[in-house]
Amino acid sequence: MNIILLGPPGAGKGTQAKKLEDKYGLKQLSTGDMLRAEIAAGTDLGVQAKQIIDRGDLVSDDIIIGMISSRTEQDDCQNGVIFDGFPRTVAQAEALENMLSDKGQRIDAVIELKVDEEALVGRLENRIAEMKAAGQEVRSDDNAETLRHRLATFREQTAPIIPFFADKDMLRTVDGMQAIDAVEAAIDAVIDEAKTVS
Ligand code: ADP
Repeated sequence: MNIILLGPPGAGKGTQAKKLEDKYGLKQLSTGDMLRAEIAAGTDLGVQAKQIIDRGDLVSDDIIIGMISSRTEQDDCQNGVIFDGFPRTVAQAEALENMLSDKGQRIDAVIELKVDEEALVGRLENRIAEMKAAGQEVRSDDNAETLRHRLATFREQTAPIIPFFADKDMLRTVDGMQAIDAVEAAIDAVIDEAKTVS
């Protein structure tokens, strides 16, 4: 089973993806985490990506699609994947559909976490405070100014994939303003429905 979690920065995709990993035996692939690993390892890709990420822009489709295509070949992805932060453009969405259909697979559910934009700034401030309190390093793109740009990037480049999947009747929307457990229950219901269809 392959699931896409869709939503703006701070919507709760990562939190929910981790829960789904354990429950359904799927592998969470976060392109943001993969890029941060490249940065930490100091690869050429990481050096290029850091400047783009710190501005709140998107890394090029070619790089992202190449990264996902080789990662999904690995053994730990064969039971299915939760895509978190990918696709972020219509081109990435089309590439993913092609990639999966070449393997005889498909996207089983696209779950949009819908949240009020005003709430996102508050959530980010909480995340920064929690990370600092835990002595963890705060992401270099987690600040109010870059967040505004990341939200604008989401509206302009990522939001068009919502109608793209809705037109194919693949989109299911979950209220991401609810408590974490309630969001989890709503996602479970969508996945149960997807399972009965397949
Ligand atoms: P968030 O969901 O909080 O914005 P992510 O960790 O998913 O954070 O992504 C951080 C940054 O990494 C993005 O702002 C973007 O620059 C880059 N990035 C992540 N995934 C993609 C993608 N699929 N396409 C292009 N750029 C990406």
